[in-house]
Amino acid sequence: MIETEKLGKRYEDQEIISDVTFRVEKGEIFGLIGPSGAGKSTLLRILDLLEEESEGSLTLMGEPVSHSPLERLKLRLRMAMLLQKPVVFNTTVEGNIGLGLKFRKVARAEIARKVKEALTEIDLTGYEARKAITLSGGEAQRVALARAMVTEPEILYLDEPTANLDPPSTEKIEQLVVQMNREHGTTVILSTHDLLQGQRMASRIGVIMRGKLLQTGTTRGIFHRPDNTQIARFVGMENIIEGEVMATDRGEVTIAAGDVQIHALSSYPVGTKATALFRGEDVTIDLSPRSSTSARNLLHGIVQELVPVGPFEHVIMDCGVPITALITIRSVEDLELQPGKEVWVSLKATAIHVLPRDRS
Ligand code: ADP
Repeated sequence: MIETEKLGKRYEDQEIISDVTFRVEKGEIFGLIGPSGAGKSTLLRILDLLEEESEGSLTLMGEPVSHSPLERLKLRLRMAMLLQKPVVFNTTVEGNIGLGLKFRKVARAEIARKVKEALTEIDLTGYEARKAITLSGGEAQRVALARAMVTEPEILYLDEPTANLDPPSTEKIEQLVVQMNREHGTTVILSTHDLLQGQRMASRIGVIMRGKLLQTGTTRGIFHRPDNTQIARFVGMENIIEGEVMATDRGEVTIAAGDVQIHALSSYPVGTKATALFRGEDVTIDLSPRSSTSARNLLHGIVQELVPVGPFEHVIMDCGVPITALITIRSVEDLELQPGKEVWVSLKATAIHVLPRDRS
């Protein structure tokens, strides 16, 4: 559906995005994640043909995109975009939702039927005659989405669509987008700095930082096996431990980090300066050393600090190296964890991602 080759954009002397090469298949939900200012909106605006690239090339729906305004307009009619700030026009809700259809010269009765159907789907039945500018942010965003939905776009771009919305409105928008994707096979590109939204919605993710697409892969792959420590930090990997490979044994390495030894799966040779990365949810805490565990790593530690994270807590421990676990508040209470408490930490070798230091 989308294929880019070394896409770049500069404004005057400033390079905003560069060397962006990726493809998205029909029917995928692809998440574009990255910090504010990384270039996500710029990339989406190029893909939606609202702006022209400065370098590289772009293929949409199997067609190489040309510079001809007419050709670009034809392609644009097959796509839609939803922005962070809901765009509604100063007319009725019905007028807003039907706008794209009117522009496409669809018959009036057909427009009325589709608008009515869409209003049911977005839970705004009976709102036909309401002035759209009097709607709440969440309602306005649903109307903006309905305006896109009724035109049955082949590609839907969402640019931080729920950044200004409350949780129930966010959930509704996410549900509608997923439904559109499942029922109509709409290809969706979603930009977000909300990692959890990326994780919830996308099957594949691209990480964009300072205008460069640094890694694309499955959501699980990006969150558990980031290509470098910069991405690891952005995707919230709590444990990034630097050391050196001191032994290898049939696909397993022992990494020395100070006095601590960490066992992980990797094939880097002895002497490699390496970084061991793992997520807090893969760390298990017990009050005595477990005899039944299959985990290759068992470390003794002292709790230093507890930091609430929604329904979970980060338990920061000194195990010779700092290790952070992410566990439920319930477990924190059951284990009576508090600063100073002695604990045993277990961690499977398979949960650890190893990077050579020069990639870190
Ligand atoms: P994101 O969506 O990831 O927050 P943007 O694509 O909005 O990032 O912006 C990336 C960078 O490009 C920012 O530094 C922004 O200031 C700059 N930028 C965006 N649009 C323009 C423009 N029209 N002219 C000059 N600079 C721009």
